[in-house]
Amino acid sequence: MKRCFLLLLFLCAAWTVQSSDKPAGIIAGGTPSATPYYIQDSRVPGPIVMIVGGVHGNEPSGAQAADQIRHWPITRGKIVVVPRANVLALATNRRTTPDEPLELGNLNRNFPRASSNEPPRGALATALWHFTRQVKPTWFIDLHEGYDFNGLGGKSVGSSVIACPTPEGKAVATAMQAAVNATITNQNIHFTMLGAPIDSSFARAAGAHLGAHAMILETTTKSQPLSLRARQHRVMVHTLLKHLNMLSDSVSVDQIADPASATVRIALYDAGGTGGTGPQKIRDFMRKQKNTIVVEVGPEEIRNGALSQFNVLICPGGTGSGQANAIGKEGRERIQKFIEAGNGYIGICAGAYLATSGFSWGLKILDAKTASPKWRRGTAVVKIELTDKGRDILGNRPGLLDCKYANGPILCPAEDESLPDYEVLAFFRTEVAENDSPPGIMVNSPAIAAGRCGKGRVIVISPHPEQNEDLQGLVAHAISWVAGQDEKNIRIGQ
Ligand SMILES: [Zn+2]
Repeated sequence: MKRCFLLLLFLCAAWTVQSSDKPAGIIAGGTPSATPYYIQDSRVPGPIVMIVGGVHGNEPSGAQAADQIRHWPITRGKIVVVPRANVLALATNRRTTPDEPLELGNLNRNFPRASSNEPPRGALATALWHFTRQVKPTWFIDLHEGYDFNGLGGKSVGSSVIACPTPEGKAVATAMQAAVNATITNQNIHFTMLGAPIDSSFARAAGAHLGAHAMILETTTKSQPLSLRARQHRVMVHTLLKHLNMLSDSVSVDQIADPASATVRIALYDAGGTGGTGPQKIRDFMRKQKNTIVVEVGPEEIRNGALSQFNVLICPGGTGSGQANAIGKEGRERIQKFIEAGNGYIGICAGAYLATSGFSWGLKILDAKTASPKWRRGTAVVKIELTDKGRDILGNRPGLLDCKYANGPILCPAEDESLPDYEVLAFFRTEVAENDSPPGIMVNSPAIAAGRCGKGRVIVISPHPEQNEDLQGLVAHAISWVAGQDEKNIRIGQ
């Protein structure tokens, strides 16, 4: 009994250490560059792996991946993670630090050169370097992105591993390169091996002055969604941590959200078949909501069961069949089970097509089909009007609302016996009917509809309220409702 109690106490203590979402501390505290760092400490002797993201502000994958990796429980040694090294550059999506003189703008050239005992240059590099000296990392991993694939022969270092030439470091870097390349079918864009990191970079300084096995991992921004790039970063870091026996078998590459970290956990599909600025707009305004996290996911995460870490899936604009093909049959079945089990789905435009029952590739989570096969109705600002139920769920917005529309579905009942009927939350009150699409069928058809699927909740939105700052609140309310967070517990289809 006593032993059990002690074991319980130990497990609680370990859990407290490992599951905390609070930073272990702040680097450059009290300055505009203040940034948190996180520690996962196994309390078992072993390597110290320091992982840095966001040194360059226009390379968001490093920050994203580091923010995911920092939740991985560690069984040996510890990981020290600085997800957003350069918060000011990240906030402006620029490579260089805003308001710094030109010679200090590139943070990754401000660290002590390999052959010199010089101090770092600028306040932020000084704070980061001071912190890193205290950490004394055995391994130092800096997550970056290039603008094009290095394997295609251009100047960019995109999709490469840039390692300091320690024998052990090189050997593991080669294994990391092989692991990420095993996920890429097109050999032309495989990761290359380069070395060493440029002099005065953070990684080179950590290798030269602190004796760390140091490397830079570069993904490629060109035509690749954030979910894919962050996954490539994770695959490489996962390989390293497994090599060092620091991860238990239960930690998969696709452990990307901590279920304890927020009540509304949104998986935002951003990969094949998506298009436009919708996903980014959704992410930006939903990240401002309380108790909410938004994580981009792609087909690999969905197929590997990562939705179990979330309670809402959003499929945004693009093409419905394109998203269905990219996600694949197995992924679509995962989504159906996820919704039936009691989670929420938001489909906007293409994501609304995807939810319907009328196509062979549809998710069949809403008893709706499209009224005409001629879907290219055109792009316009149209008027929509909320129904009483719509005002209950989406907020009290009386009258006609101007909303961007771009070839969204014109929905009608599919009469699918296995699903309850949907209810209309908003109607189109005006229409666009270009490209020989039938006129007259859009006015008074559903612009927004809600339904149930098993224990789950589904809202589909044919137009694009997420594109208009004034209407983003509708989407936020829709997300709350499908996540089961509406205080009034408004019921649909039962
Ligand atoms: Zn960079």
